[in-house]
Amino acid sequence: MRISRTDAEALDAADPLAPLRDRFVVPPGRIYLDGNSLGLVSVDVRDGVAALLGDWGKRAVEAWDDWIELPTRIGDRLAASLLGARSGEVLVADSVTVNLYKLAHAAADHRPGPIVTDAGNFPTDRYVLEGVARQRGREYVEASSVEAAVEGASGGVLCLAHVDYRYGRLLDLPAITGATDALVIWDLSHSAGAVEVDLASADLAVGCTYKYLNAGPGAPAFLYVRRELQAEMRSPIQGWFGRRDQFGMEPGYDPVDGIGRFAAGTPSIPGLAALDATLDVIELAGISRIAAKSRTVTDFGLSLADAWLAPLGFEAVSPRSAAERGAHLALRHEAAMPICRALLERAGVVTDFRQPDVLRAGLSPLTTRYVDAWDGFDRLRSLVASGAHLAQEAAPRRVT
Ligand SMILES: *Cc1c(COP(=O)(O)O)cnc(C)c1O
Repeated sequence: MRISRTDAEALDAADPLAPLRDRFVVPPGRIYLDGNSLGLVSVDVRDGVAALLGDWGKRAVEAWDDWIELPTRIGDRLAASLLGARSGEVLVADSVTVNLYKLAHAAADHRPGPIVTDAGNFPTDRYVLEGVARQRGREYVEASSVEAAVEGASGGVLCLAHVDYRYGRLLDLPAITGATDALVIWDLSHSAGAVEVDLASADLAVGCTYKYLNAGPGAPAFLYVRRELQAEMRSPIQGWFGRRDQFGMEPGYDPVDGIGRFAAGTPSIPGLAALDATLDVIELAGISRIAAKSRTVTDFGLSLADAWLAPLGFEAVSPRSAAERGAHLALRHEAAMPICRALLERAGVVTDFRQPDVLRAGLSPLTTRYVDAWDGFDRLRSLVASGAHLAQEAAPRRVT
């Protein structure tokens, strides 16, 4: 099947989300297929952060009366717009790493068994869980597959990525949650803002806001604790933001009721302002339309990969079924690392490389047009067909 650029243009013309893309700033001279790593800035976020700086200037410390509500107020917004959670179940705070640490300790209080994940989970998740297991004197199990992890977690704590960062596999969250007696911590970093998430059956979750939520580098993460569990869950970090009568400055620790007990120290207000502003765009789009675009744009990318890239030695290793896939495609190639670098430096296409042999093409639904997928994959095909990547210097970079 021949897929022409005109086909891509027609899909863009019919895309209900297309007008929203104009609110985002695309790096000049680039085709950006890396929104799964760092989402792009929107004018809404730029204006939201500017307004926060103005507020800081005009009101300084007096503005804290409003700012202090942001972690729970924006948590409620995330809960309703994106996560299928209830009010009072989501808190915006810290990083994914720190939130996972907090929830893994709290979960270990409730299950005596092993702390389990799969070897394909994101590195920080594996490292944090290994450390918590050591601190708690528990067995740490890194299973060879998700299925083996679910099986081995009985009576313990299980952490799984809803969408896997390398291959983009999307797990059936309600089915897995219902099939185990382990306390499951879902990592939504690669699913929140890309696909539909329904936490109604889930107990615990963490997630990231600088990928598909476009809240900016280092924007605060979120955590979710099912309402019915909150009273019996405690954070291992006894910070003053989680204490009852915070400004009473009393001796001893006494956590507040509700999700606020998982707060630790002073939150990043510029990061929260950015998140609040980006949710304006996301709510305008609506997660069902975003998720639908995720499925169709990755289907489109897979068709291009089959037609153009398979003959050049690429293997598309993301799930073939859109219902089992997040918003990025994993393309395996033995020379994936120099190809990724050459694609950026010689053809202006931003993707990323993941060990050992995967080129990731992020097709973030709000910011990726069908023509971006077409142009990006077309340049990738030309580059590899020409062999130009073979001459690519691959000096190591601090960030890949
Ligand atoms: C991106 C990502 C993280 C990031 O963690 P930080 O603490 O924000 O650095 C964690 N887990 C998963 C699965 C991710 O995709």
